[in-house]
Amino acid sequence: MYALPKHYDVIVVGSGHAGVEAALAAARLGCSTLLLTQNLDTVAQMSCNPAVGGSAKGQIVREIDALGGAMGINADATGIQFRLLNRSKGPSVRAPRIQCDKKAYQFRMKAVLEGAVGLDIKQATVSNIVVDGKRRVSGVETDLGMAVYGNAVILTSGTFLGGLLHVGETTRRGGRMADTNSGLSASIRQLGFEIGRFKTGTPCRIAGRSIDFQRCEIQRGDEPPPRFSFLPFETALPTEIFTLNHGQFHMEQMPCWITHTTASTHDIIRKNLHRSPLYSGRIEGTGPRYCPSIEDKIVKFSHREAHQVFLEPEGRHTDEFYVNGLSTSLPYDVQVDFIRSIPGLERAELMRPGYAVEYDFFPPTQLRRLMAEDAELSDVLLQEFLARRQRLKAGPAAEGLQIIGSDLDSGALALRAYAARRNLPHVWLDADSVEGRSLMRAASLRLMYCKCIVGPVSTSMPRFNTLPAARIPALTCVASSRRL
Ligand SMILES: Cc1cc2nc3c(=O)[nH]c(=O)nc-3n(C[C@H](O)[C@H](O)[C@H](O)COP(=O)(O)OP(=O)(O)OC[C@H]3O[C@@H](n4cnc5c(N)ncnc54)[C@H](O)[C@@H]3O)c2cc1C
Repeated sequence: MYALPKHYDVIVVGSGHAGVEAALAAARLGCSTLLLTQNLDTVAQMSCNPAVGGSAKGQIVREIDALGGAMGINADATGIQFRLLNRSKGPSVRAPRIQCDKKAYQFRMKAVLEGAVGLDIKQATVSNIVVDGKRRVSGVETDLGMAVYGNAVILTSGTFLGGLLHVGETTRRGGRMADTNSGLSASIRQLGFEIGRFKTGTPCRIAGRSIDFQRCEIQRGDEPPPRFSFLPFETALPTEIFTLNHGQFHMEQMPCWITHTTASTHDIIRKNLHRSPLYSGRIEGTGPRYCPSIEDKIVKFSHREAHQVFLEPEGRHTDEFYVNGLSTSLPYDVQVDFIRSIPGLERAELMRPGYAVEYDFFPPTQLRRLMAEDAELSDVLLQEFLARRQRLKAGPAAEGLQIIGSDLDSGALALRAYAARRNLPHVWLDADSVEGRSLMRAASLRLMYCKCIVGPVSTSMPRFNTLPAARIPALTCVASSRRL
């Protein structure tokens, strides 16, 4: 086994949306970071619809942006259609959504990763998690005989663990179509974690030139285009070729198109349900509640005479259209039949079939309240926290906040050093105790400007961010001598 000589603070496995943000966040915090991913050509690849945001997701993208993440900026820079969904409803359910140029999004994000200071990137498939005698993670091993050691490992393996792809009666291994799956679950199972199975699916992609757009309703983007990022547009360097939208929107937004399923579509699907792996019992995983397949829609909403179908371009320089609303795992021939029963798609040519993917996941209930698996550490923290809360008679809004990173980088490091010197597993700081205040001063903690707060009360984060420190009833900071 070849051991990489460099020891990292953080090793991130996977480069989908989650892995990209995790790696960039760790590097921004000053941690030496390594991103390992199966295929460098699929960095930030959107497995399904190349859209970012939408209902219940748009606000998360804006939160990621507020925390310094890259997703919102990248979507703004590579978007081809911008909309605010639910505009007619109340502000709490309005959701920004950007249809992106799939390839531009990927390539631009890869360039962002490559430009990040303190971040190394390598193509490798992680096959084993290495733990020390105290069950603490100490690194990873890859399937080609490389070991890398570090203080923390972040797994963002998406749909790839034990991934199985289904198209009708055909099943094959894969994390998504044309990508291999990953066998890492075995190593995680060996560590004693419980594993479950999830399922999701995607529709077919069809050739734009085979669509009769005259028979569809046009859906244009909003003007002015609602962006995700709160930051002003950066002026891209002339050498940067992946940003489509510089400073202003110099190009027309691309339209999407709307059509509907028909009675004939529903008939074809009903008659072939026995050939769907979902209904023949071959898929065991639980599907997403809010993104049902067309088979599910026909069965569960049998009273509906038609379902909306959105035809969405996958990019500015491709003819592929994503058929939103028709996620399916029915056999190829059935997909062709039911697609061609839809107005405007009578002569549609499938470029890629729809499919379902089943994959392993680890129920997050196995994590303790303080997001640590290490029972000993989290129990101690929890007990201290509860005792402290009782002493302070703090209300729920004052529940322990764990502060890390950004402006607090030097503070967190200094506190860690303090904890290590005194051989303490962790340090608790209380903003209104004398000792707490002097430690904070020593560690240059600036409570007013903390950018990154994670903890049980993350929903009240904006409130705490705007409160003067003096008005925060009881602010608790944990710094572990073990690097988090
Ligand atoms: C068919 C299909 C349909 C989907 N439909 C939707 C949808 O409609 N809406 C939606 O929100 N989401 C959908 N998803 C889920 C989609 O996966 C997520 O939206 C999102 O892309 C997940 O991002 P992620 O970063 O968690 O994982 P992914 O984008 O899945 O990325 C995982 C990354 O980890 C890497 N990786 C995995 N194992 C290893 C290993 N052992 N070593 C190194 N690298 C590894 C992979 O190569 C990949 O880069 C769908 C996924 C698929 C496959």
